[in-house]
Amino acid sequence: MTTMTTSTDKLKRAAESAGLDLFGLMSEYQYEQIVMCHEPYTGLKAVICVHNTTLGPALGGIRMWPYETEQEAIVDAMRLARAMTFKAAVAGLNLGGGKTVVIGDPRTDKTEMLFRALGRFVDTLNGRYIAAEDVGTATEDMEYIAMETPYVTGVDFVAGGSGDPSPMTAYGVYQGIRACVRQVHGTDSLQGRKVALQGTGHVGGHLADLLAEAGVELTVTDINMDGAREVAQRTGASLVAPDEIYDVDADIFTPCALGGVINPETIDRLGCQIVAGAANNVLLNDEMGEELHRRDVLYAPDYVINAGGLINVSEELGGYNAERARKRVGRIYNALTKILELARHEQIPPYRAAEAVALERIKSVRPIADVYTGRSRTAWQHQPIALQSSRKG
Ligand code: NAD
Repeated sequence: MTTMTTSTDKLKRAAESAGLDLFGLMSEYQYEQIVMCHEPYTGLKAVICVHNTTLGPALGGIRMWPYETEQEAIVDAMRLARAMTFKAAVAGLNLGGGKTVVIGDPRTDKTEMLFRALGRFVDTLNGRYIAAEDVGTATEDMEYIAMETPYVTGVDFVAGGSGDPSPMTAYGVYQGIRACVRQVHGTDSLQGRKVALQGTGHVGGHLADLLAEAGVELTVTDINMDGAREVAQRTGASLVAPDEIYDVDADIFTPCALGGVINPETIDRLGCQIVAGAANNVLLNDEMGEELHRRDVLYAPDYVINAGGLINVSEELGGYNAERARKRVGRIYNALTKILELARHEQIPPYRAAEAVALERIKSVRPIADVYTGRSRTAWQHQPIALQSSRKG
């Protein structure tokens, strides 16, 4: 551990060397705040990034990952925080976008005190940022954070939270698929539609059940073939090897595993009319969104259709009620319909229509902040938001 010293030579040298142009990036993509959190006794090294709080406090998960460099960690926190701004805005939530990354291996570096130390840093933001679970963290970790701050969601059922969000995410995706089918076929009945589902994990497994119940002809795959086989047996689905899923004769391709699965290698193999699933960052890049549009394949923007998990944890803020949460998640049908109709009207790909809807909502809420509520003159800090793609950065 380094000792306390008044010498700032190292800082001066770091400032002179060419590094990450943080303020340049913050200015270009309109970030409000980045907090570097360090606590030497627990080894905590975390970055809390608040992208935009126009709509409300920035809610976003805590990702724990063994980042190789701190630049990588900072950039990931920034990228993920910005995506949360768009996700909350299109979901109609009064929340902004934020994210935390913890540098460390979730398999070996987790301790109670590490998360409690992080909880204390979250608390210093006084509600500007609200934590939740994400890749590498779980409901138990959120309980440690909850010991230090009220600004945390995704806490376990036993602690009064909403628990595992996957069933709600799956329900939202299911409603989103119905909305897509209506756009293409004029009816949202899924009876007899053919769906190729990639990834039968937490979300994919629940989704397979809902689709089977709705009368879908289902084909599933997973790199964990035992898990996929179990889901296939339970739902009556056909089973294929992971690489064969793109060639399945299907009306709908439903990615529920990894990002980047719509890419130059896979796009020619798809014979479907709809791509709609839970996975984040389904499109390798924006060009894939344009290409699907050119090919007349309807793409449900990932952060719109998979917002069920976020909507669900946000319900904890007012006291969690599962029935109300489910109703709110069901509104993904309407939110997605609005975006798909705008895309059709403007003849633009849905991923661009989603960005336009998000930016419009953020822009339109600003003027009402002029109304003095009696509680705080500056309850909302209204920040403009840049008109770049949410996938940049
Ligand atoms: P999970 O880890 O439980 O499931 C993912 C599954 O995909 C696993 O079973 C894994 O074996 C499988 N898989 C990985 N690579 C594969 C490949 N190449 N081919 C086939 N299968 C493969 O994760 P999850 O919680 O079900 O999340 C699935 C996706 O949805 C992720 O992209 C996640 O970011 C996104 N998402 C999840 C939630 C949620 O509430 N859990 C919310 C929003 C978005």
